[in-house]
Amino acid sequence: MNKSNKRAIIVGNWKMNNNRAQTESLIKSLRPLVKNANCDVVICPPFTSIETAISKAAGSNMQIGAQNCHFARSGAYTGEISAYMLKEIGVSHVILGHSERRQYFAEKSSTVHLKLLSALDAGLTAIVCVGETLKQHENKTTTEIVSIQTKVALKGLRIEQMKNVIIAYEPVWAIGTGKTATSNQAAQVCGTIRKTVEQIFGSSASQALRILYGGSMNPTNCECLLSKDDIDGGLIGGASLRPADFSSIINFAGKNR
Ligand code: PEP
Repeated sequence: MNKSNKRAIIVGNWKMNNNRAQTESLIKSLRPLVKNANCDVVICPPFTSIETAISKAAGSNMQIGAQNCHFARSGAYTGEISAYMLKEIGVSHVILGHSERRQYFAEKSSTVHLKLLSALDAGLTAIVCVGETLKQHENKTTTEIVSIQTKVALKGLRIEQMKNVIIAYEPVWAIGTGKTATSNQAAQVCGTIRKTVEQIFGSSASQALRILYGGSMNPTNCECLLSKDDIDGGLIGGASLRPADFSSIINFAGKNR
């Protein structure tokens, strides 16, 4: 499958930012700026702002995602929220295995795998994050790390479930640091992810898979990154909080098909 046959996707990860009033105002600012975008647009606010985001984005081309979910349907998991609960309120996507969850909440690839099964079962599209730390990057083990994380997360999935999986390559050393992988580095690792998926699910599933780059993407560097063959979109943190920056990435991604 040629890249131009796939719709690009830009996902905004707001992290723990934006209360309901701020969510309302940010979505209101974004609506006119992205209304002609020729790509999928997903915004992932914190849990408490999701319903506000859904109601303010209604009738627009923006979909609302979550930043995490639990792997069980329900039960004695104090403080957690299940994929089914997210689906019930109109969430379409969920980010899984973000490096901040791996770093601060000891989330392992095996847990990401369980969350992925649950998210897919609930009918969500999952954005699975993989990426190496600075130390792993310096030790030149990126390829190995990223392909292991990919394999563990996708273990045992049926091929048809891959339609609802997106993988985001996020080098940990590039997240929120202002450092970006060069477009060639990023494309090379995204190519490794695609090859890993091809080994498991075959060529047509791997070609159809959308792979995102995330890590300090902004309006200045997005052009180089998004024009690479193996990069089908972006997962954006900091710049997704600024409507002008976020919308210029979105509008570039839509044009570049
Ligand atoms: C992220 O949080 O997924 C991310 C890529 O953040 P930033 O764009 O700020 O590096």
